[in-house]
Amino acid sequence: MTSTAHSATATEATGQVPASFSGPAVDARAALTLPYTHVDDVFIDGAWVLARGTGRNSVTDPATGQVWGSVPDGTAEDIDAAVGAARKAFDGGWSRLAPSERAAYLLRIADEVDKRADELALTNTRENGSPIAESSGAAANAASIFRYFATLAEYLEREDVRPFPRGGGESVVRRDPVGVCALIAPWNFPINLMVIKLAPALLAGCTVVMKPASPTPLSFRLIVDAVAAAGVPAGVVNLVTGSGKLGDTLVRHLGVDKVAFTGSTPVGRKIAAACGELLRPVTLELGGKSSAIVLPDADLDAMSNGLVRSCMRNTGQTCYISTRILAPAGRYDEVVDMVTATIAAGVQGDPLDPATVFGPAATESQYRTVLEYVDAGRAEGARVTTGGRVARLGGGLEGGFFVEPTVFADVTPTMRISREEIFGPVISVLKYTDVDEAVALANNTEFGLGGLVFGTDQDAALAVADRMDTGSVGINFFASNHSAPFGGRHDSGLGTEYGIEGLNAYLSYKSIHRRP
Ligand code: NAP
Ligand code: MG
Repeated sequence: MTSTAHSATATEATGQVPASFSGPAVDARAALTLPYTHVDDVFIDGAWVLARGTGRNSVTDPATGQVWGSVPDGTAEDIDAAVGAARKAFDGGWSRLAPSERAAYLLRIADEVDKRADELALTNTRENGSPIAESSGAAANAASIFRYFATLAEYLEREDVRPFPRGGGESVVRRDPVGVCALIAPWNFPINLMVIKLAPALLAGCTVVMKPASPTPLSFRLIVDAVAAAGVPAGVVNLVTGSGKLGDTLVRHLGVDKVAFTGSTPVGRKIAAACGELLRPVTLELGGKSSAIVLPDADLDAMSNGLVRSCMRNTGQTCYISTRILAPAGRYDEVVDMVTATIAAGVQGDPLDPATVFGPAATESQYRTVLEYVDAGRAEGARVTTGGRVARLGGGLEGGFFVEPTVFADVTPTMRISREEIFGPVISVLKYTDVDEAVALANNTEFGLGGLVFGTDQDAALAVADRMDTGSVGINFFASNHSAPFGGRHDSGLGTEYGIEGLNAYLSYKSIHRRP
């Protein structure tokens, strides 16, 4: 198989740059004017207000290593004020609006997000190095998440009266909002992983205090601006910035009724422990180590076209991607060649360039982590077929955190690169002898988030997907669907997001029994 048969373009790999995108050329980096760079305020009770403390955290462009922004390192006083404002707004009427009235706000927010799409994409890319094709898709996706949840108002308004099984009365079932919610997001998709919490929380009638990840504290301010422009009442939405310590303060605040978190498994465990002690409902979307099972009848050309999106999306910094590829022994070399050629053909470069498929690692510490895993893979005897080094880029990107997209062949199930979440551009290709072994290999992990089956026979592929012990599986492609539940099993999390199931996470049921 030749490498040209499997070349991946940026469009195939990371999605189309919307025609409306009017971002700058690469050499315009220095001239970029973004709405938010160095800021000293947080959003509390309907206004940007000075943060209480004096600490600051810097924002670094991972493509250059240069600091270009900074935000307040919030304090317990900021959290107190934000939770207090959220409580007041909850009690003050937001929770009692008809769901369709709240849905109307969601639709207005979506329109306001659309107006800010370019600024959102550029800010996101400068914060975390996501290829601009990826981050412009994120802004459009954020608007569509708000629109999707607006459609669920009807579900909330539907009357739910259930007779007692043996007669003699009935129960009116109410779906009340759970209260003030703490929303905490990671840096890899800083916009959507917060919006997927914010939209259902608002529709349900909850009010929120949000804390973005330290590397990505600026992009979400534009969503907050959209919320304010949509006329959402003061106090319904609050945003604080600060470290993980501030996140912990927020999680434990006595005024918080529910916590929704996306991030790493170790931090998720700490949050679960805190919420356990407080008997506070919690949703956790955590790490993963997902597998793509290549069935013997798989179409490798088709697989190649979607490979970056399925297995190395966002420079490998996506929770559900299948970074372990399980290939049948009879086609092992063919699969290794295809994966190697496809990954090697993806352009690595300035994430502001729409042609870029692979950007930098989002942070310096993530960059070091990825390089450590590459070293570990070599030390344990795996074979690098492409990449495997620091990527040296010119044109002002010399200080960036670029690791070459890397493929390892001859990986065995016990190697660290096969078991642990790397969260960078590293794929392992393992060999299996029969489908039972492939399923066992895929399920032999502490995680259970995503997965893929590549195969031509749809029924056979579905039968294998049914045997995979994970929250989501794709057949020949992977994408999350706003209306289908997304969540992790085992160490990948607790509860679900998206769909009616994701809305339920922000509801508290009440049954009123009566004999009319
Ligand atoms: P992380 O280190 O766990 O941090 C996530 C968020 O939690 C950040 O806002 C962080 O703030 C905050 N935080 C840290 N310690 C905290 C504590 N003790 N209490 C409360 N909040 C705390 O994760 P990350 O490094 O940002 O993101 C990468 C991880 O996210 C990967 O493991 C990835 O798999 C996972 N992820 C999962 C999904 C999913 O849907 N399942 C999606 C995307 C990513 P600081 O940034 O200030 O530390
Ligand atoms: Mg972290």
